[in-house]
Amino acid sequence: MVIENLFLIIVAVSNLILGGLVYFNNRKSLVNRVFGIWAFSLTLWSINSFLFYVFGNSPSASLLLGRLLYATAVIIVVTLLYFTEIFPDSINLKRRYTAIIFAPATLLFIFTIASDLIIEDIAISVFDNKAIFGPLFILYALFIIIYVALSVFILIRKYQYVQNNNIKIHIHLMLIGIATSGFFGITATILLPMFNVFNVDKFGPVSTVFMVGFMAYAIAKYNVMNIKVIATKFLGILLSFVLFINLIFSKTASEFLINIIIFFAGTIISYLLVKSASAEINIRKKLENLTSKLQIANEDLRKLDEKKTEFMSLASHQLRTPLTSIKGYSSMIKSGDFGKISSEQKEPLDIIFMSTENMNNLIDDFLNASRIEKKRGFDYNFVVDNPINLIKEIIDNLSIQIKNKGLKFVYENKINKEVKIKFDNRTLLQAISNLIQNAIKYTNNGSITVKISRTNNHLEFSVKDSGIGMTSDDLKMLFKRFFRSDSVKIDYPEGTGLGLYLAERIILDHGGKIWAESKGIGKGSSFFITLPVVKE
Ligand code: ADP
Repeated sequence: MVIENLFLIIVAVSNLILGGLVYFNNRKSLVNRVFGIWAFSLTLWSINSFLFYVFGNSPSASLLLGRLLYATAVIIVVTLLYFTEIFPDSINLKRRYTAIIFAPATLLFIFTIASDLIIEDIAISVFDNKAIFGPLFILYALFIIIYVALSVFILIRKYQYVQNNNIKIHIHLMLIGIATSGFFGITATILLPMFNVFNVDKFGPVSTVFMVGFMAYAIAKYNVMNIKVIATKFLGILLSFVLFINLIFSKTASEFLINIIIFFAGTIISYLLVKSASAEINIRKKLENLTSKLQIANEDLRKLDEKKTEFMSLASHQLRTPLTSIKGYSSMIKSGDFGKISSEQKEPLDIIFMSTENMNNLIDDFLNASRIEKKRGFDYNFVVDNPINLIKEIIDNLSIQIKNKGLKFVYENKINKEVKIKFDNRTLLQAISNLIQNAIKYTNNGSITVKISRTNNHLEFSVKDSGIGMTSDDLKMLFKRFFRSDSVKIDYPEGTGLGLYLAERIILDHGGKIWAESKGIGKGSSFFITLPVVKE
């Protein structure tokens, strides 16, 4: 008996401390307040159970305490149900709904305390006092069981719907706590007593410690954890208090002097501890705040980016249709399908044809970029072959432009043996052409040097120019989608910033590498591609 009562006191104190910690952790939060009230009613339940034993010999006290015991259980289950409804975001329930929860509980509470319909009397016995249930006790039993079952049901629903994994874990913990305590509590204090078994009824209040423990942990976790500060404060005050008592009971003057020093030292250390704990929590809070803001901003950006890709792909498709007719018809006119054309008409027609060709390439770049973003990428048709002819073809096509711009062109082919790589003709041509076209575009005088060489495992291709060069910051961003350096935006307005982005994708898909070097603005640029050699 003594052991059981000791347990009751320990449980009462633990519930009170846990409830208090959560309550003072954040008094503004409804969840914390309701939890505090709930834990306090559990404390009352344990104390009541203890007093019921202490005053067991007095019939009038026994009856009052017995009724109070059962009435407190009503408060416990109603606050529990309310709590599960508002957890975790302190949801504001509709008034009508709150009334539906609380009205039957209030009635039952009054009937339990002030009538003999629920608890008729207490039969005093040497071994254990027993409650004699009134005619409506069955309603009481149903009420308690339904409210606890509803709480469990609501938490299970929340568990299913909630997205955040942390909260899921907390709800899981709560469910374990409530289900365990609910089962033992109801069995020990309602079901067994209905069959006249009273000797385990104290186990009801004792079992609540599981529930409060699990729930306090869950709430503390959810509420940014300044529970650590509260716990430190609590211990700090306790330490100072003990040292103060020690000081008061000093026997000699010298002992008093030492104790006074110990008291101040202890108090200062406690204060510093609390301060550092709060500082840590504050930093953590700020960090969590920032992280969640960043997450939201990131998500917004991602959505915006998706929309942009969608738009890019849609617009490009729409542009392509009229362009195909312009290109088709201008080609037919050029070749005389609609009658002979004069020599004056030929040049503008050539310009129309070339411009549509350029525009077509531009649209292709946009479409390919949006395909990559949608994770679809290029359609490759890989072959294993010697790429030298392809490179020569590109150079032949572009050398006229190089000469037209008055640039010196150097071509160095250091490969003397047959070399084979695995490549897709169309896209590799696009990637290499882009490097040479850029060199032409961004070089106003000087030279362009194209080199091909091979190491044991790789074919290396490079384009070096004496053009406008790049800063080290440009080099870092070069292969990013839509990147154009500040130095080109005004002087070379034509450009999309997609060429290198696509080239990098193509080279990576070929199992190769692409990179650039430059000593700075005005000091020229070099671009390199390496591709794995296929060995026979
Ligand atoms: P675009 O040339 O259409 O702008 P690219 O993706 O081909 O797009 O190139 C991206 C950017 O890289 C260019 O806008 C330019 O700032 C820089 N760049 C590329 N090649 C060179 C080069 N040879 N010399 C200097 N800057 C270059």
